[in-house]
Parts: sequence; structure tokens; C-alpha cells
Amino acid sequence: MAYLQPTTLTCPTCQFSAQIKVVVGIGPGSNRGDIPYERYKSAPPFTEGENGQLLCLHDGTVVWTNTAARKAPE
Ligand SMILES: [Zn+2]
Repeated sequence: MAYLQPTTLTCPTCQFSAQIKVVVGIGPGSNRGDIPYERYKSAPPFTEGENGQLLCLHDGTVVWTNTAARKAPE
């Protein structure tokens, strides 16, 4: 199960702001309350960095980092 979520990212350094779409979803075998993963769907206008990061096109500041799904806290 996954869905697209429009997300506005703002650079803390230069205040550049743009909207991207983020894929939000949980893997198979997940349980109610588990925290979904969040991954960007496409990078533009931001620049793709390493390890699932998006960088500001002006100054390279990290504005997004993909996150993995996690189990619900016990
Ligand atoms: Zn910036």
C-alpha cells in the first residue's frame, strides 16, 4: 500500500521552496500503527544527492531525506 503525497520543501539557507511528490507506504507484513516509509517520487527542481537525499539547487543544502518504514513503538 502506497500513495503519493504532495510535499512542499523549503531550503533553510536561501528559502527556495517548491513542491514535490512523496511516495508514502508500508511494506508487506506491516501492522497497524507502523510508521510508513517516505521516498521522493521525482527530484526536480531539486538535485538528487546520495542516500536518498534531495539538495537545494542553489546551495546544496539537504532539504529531504528518504526514510524507511519502521515498526510501531511497543
Ligand atoms: Zn537553498
